Amino acid sequence: MKIDSPRITSFQPPARTLMGPGPSDVSSRVLAAMARPTIGHLDPTFVGMMDELKSLLRYAFQTENELTFPVSAPGSVGMETCFVNLVSPGDKVVVCINGVFGQRMAENVRRCGGVPVIVEDPWGAPVDPAKVEEAFAANPDAALFAFVHAETSTGALSDAATLAAIARRHGALTIMDCVTSLGGVPVLLDEWGIDAAYSGSQKCLSCTPGLSPVSFSAAAVERIRARKTPCPSWFQDLSLVLGYWSGAKRTYHHTAPVNPLFGLHESLVMLAEEGLENAWLRHRNNHLRLRAGLEGMGLKFVVREDARLPQLNTVWVPEGVDEAVVRSRLLNEFGIEIGAGLGALAGRVWRIGLMGQSSCTANIVLFLAALESVMRG
Ligand SMILES: *Cc1c(COP(=O)(O)O)cnc(C)c1O
Repeated sequence: MKIDSPRITSFQPPARTLMGPGPSDVSSRVLAAMARPTIGHLDPTFVGMMDELKSLLRYAFQTENELTFPVSAPGSVGMETCFVNLVSPGDKVVVCINGVFGQRMAENVRRCGGVPVIVEDPWGAPVDPAKVEEAFAANPDAALFAFVHAETSTGALSDAATLAAIARRHGALTIMDCVTSLGGVPVLLDEWGIDAAYSGSQKCLSCTPGLSPVSFSAAAVERIRARKTPCPSWFQDLSLVLGYWSGAKRTYHHTAPVNPLFGLHESLVMLAEEGLENAWLRHRNNHLRLRAGLEGMGLKFVVREDARLPQLNTVWVPEGVDEAVVRSRLLNEFGIEIGAGLGALAGRVWRIGLMGQSSCTANIVLFLAALESVMRG
């Protein structure tokens, strides 16, 4: 059999400015790190790099959790890793839904044989703590609580400290999705008392997609150890993965994505060099710059001011404007990618990301000028 087209050669991606819901722009420093020679995944120098990576992730997550490492797969697998290890058949889990990613959490609970107790809020609103309080009062046997810190489908930020405190008062462990929040706004696992958290490499960490940092508290590890049924996933079973990511002697579990991990290491070194607080401040200031420009053009934000994510700006598409035409012109004429609406917001909003390396003045100036030019016709 011959290959279909004899013209297929190396793939050359076009130059893009990534201002959507992820991936974000990846710096040349991270790309260069990924181009370094591949070495064995059990090579002692690689194992040393893995240990540094865990320390850097503890800094990013602001935690002392021993069990902190990147799952070798995208954020969705980090999510599944939390649920398949912590939820056993019959477990009741209070799950907050205020967008796409909360829906996925509820689906995870069902697939693990758990019973989701749904707390719903409108798309674009943060999770309402009063409703969570009511759900626990009505379900005192709920063992777990799950919510999305930064809902990328809407741009809403929820009050993680308050929510986790409610769960703790009711004796439940908290699972938090911080895929979009990590590195862009404060994520303080230990201070807030988060028991399991998952993130992604391609949002505010500005690495390439495909890795999912996770972290588990001692209480979460205790719960996993006490499971009566085995974790239904072999690949994600933390009791097996652990022999690979920790301990004096590492044993083969799967082959870690060696070069992507070089990239994540480099992006976390860059975060540490900048300093977390400075990174949060940069995201905040650039959001304010973008907002001034967007409001100057008459565009309105979907999320109320005190719950807006600086790294994901969702605005209503003006009356009479074809949102898909604007997005494709931004891409084709200016090389700028922004996001469309999902679910309840499909066709009605644009999602403009200022994540990680993409959160810079040059991108904002380019985007605002391009949008103005496209909107003029
Ligand atoms: C992007 C995202 C995910 C999924 O991450 P993938 O890397 O696409 O699998 C999960 N939750 C939130 C909030 C996200 O923004």
